[in-house]
Amino acid sequence: MSTPPAETGALPVVALIGRPNVGKSTLFNQLTGTRDALVADFPGLTRDRQYGIGRLEEQRFIVVDTGGIGPDQDPDFREMTEAQATAALEEADVVVFLVDARAGLDPADQEIARRLRRQDTPVVLVVNKSEGLTSIEANADFYALGMGEPLPIAAAHNRGMASLGERLAAHVPAMEAFEAPPRDPGIPRICVIGRPNVGKSTLVNRLIGEDRVVAADAPGATRDSVEVAFEWQGRSFRLIDTAGLRRRSKRDGIAEKFSGVKTLQAIEQSDVAIVVVDARSDIGAQDARVLGLAAAEGRSIIVAVNKWDKLEEDVRKQIREDLDYKLPYLEFAPVHTISALRGSGLGEMMRSVIRASDAANADLSTSRLTQVLEDAVRAHAPPAVHGRRIKLRYAHQGGRRPPKIVIHGNQTARVSTDYKRYLSNRFREAFDLFATPVEILFKSSD
Ligand code: GDP
Ligand code: GDP
Repeated sequence: MSTPPAETGALPVVALIGRPNVGKSTLFNQLTGTRDALVADFPGLTRDRQYGIGRLEEQRFIVVDTGGIGPDQDPDFREMTEAQATAALEEADVVVFLVDARAGLDPADQEIARRLRRQDTPVVLVVNKSEGLTSIEANADFYALGMGEPLPIAAAHNRGMASLGERLAAHVPAMEAFEAPPRDPGIPRICVIGRPNVGKSTLVNRLIGEDRVVAADAPGATRDSVEVAFEWQGRSFRLIDTAGLRRRSKRDGIAEKFSGVKTLQAIEQSDVAIVVVDARSDIGAQDARVLGLAAAEGRSIIVAVNKWDKLEEDVRKQIREDLDYKLPYLEFAPVHTISALRGSGLGEMMRSVIRASDAANADLSTSRLTQVLEDAVRAHAPPAVHGRRIKLRYAHQGGRRPPKIVIHGNQTARVSTDYKRYLSNRFREAFDLFATPVEILFKSSD
């Protein structure tokens, strides 16, 4: 059973463009880096270098690094990045065009400016590496690009970020107004993500119980998300469906290309990501990439190994081993084997979804957290470093989705990764933090 889809706000998309070496990756990391601590907790997980959720003060948006374009690249690689850049520009609400204050105006900058003038997306011209220069000095060369008033920043030194935020907001007012849609506590919001052809549409149609086009096919609406309410075995759910994420091209029946933007849009608005992989093909780089996007955003993850029907028993066993080997960093994510086509395995999977959603949004009381911390330390104290003891005093909750636990103490910068992992497992057990990453932060008083 389902009700008509309701439109929800989708995060605005900011594309970074510029010739190689101007500082795009540095800016990308600066904007998206807030979850680095979390990513560091999953050995083997690399953050997606191209797509991420950016934050500037209260603003949130999707950042796309278009990769370096310009003449000083080998032609094959250039063709590939050109295609990526073009795709990224089509998806963008605003473009940040980076140039280099130290290097001055470069012919490649002119080339990019010409290309940007051919499209309608607003452009903010940003002059990077401007530390130690006055804005007059930094900007002087770049008025010639005809892209309006340049904005000097220094990405590597985290300078100019507030002004960048203002300039972006001026072009995309929605960015400032963007607020997470109100939540109905207890109703899990799910998204179904994965590379093309793994069976996402089939699964969604099974879950919402009818075969219909959920998302509008109109041009311009390609990035909007819709929320579909449905019931499954007497429980209410919401499906975040992003147009095009699982839509097939009407003309030739070919699945849509993988879209990092659409995948992130869906991840961002949900409590639980069901990541679908195909039992009949190897777990590959693109599967790992989807999982990485969800994990880096701190989302609860359920892995659904689809097309499990008609497989011989020894093949099933081999696939399970393969999964354990290839995705060791996802040990917190339960793996369900399903057949979307036949509808098998879905009941169990949806029970996991409910548990995972509850865990993602759990309230963790300070007294209980501190108790668990004390017990954990009593059972196994953090090893002393250079004869100095590390003291962990108390813990409180710092956020949800994912659960964030802030631990106060002394010398906490010296807590080892292993010990942090030990603590996170203790918290996970004590609070049944099922299927969700747990973010642990230390606050030191010395
Ligand atoms: P990309 O090729 O455009 O992604 O450029 P990168 O982010 O890799 O940066 C290229 C070089 O510029 C690196 O050595 C950075 O450390 C350096 N860089 C980036 N931002 C700044 C900055 O604000 N000031 C200075 N001086 N160097 C920077
Ligand atoms: P999407 O691109 O991820 O949305 O994938 P689709 O849902 O369109 O499915 C791709 C193909 O896989 C279609 O031909 C489906 O019929 C088939 N498929 C989906 N789920 C299953 C399944 O559980 N078992 C089998 N054997 N085929 C499936």
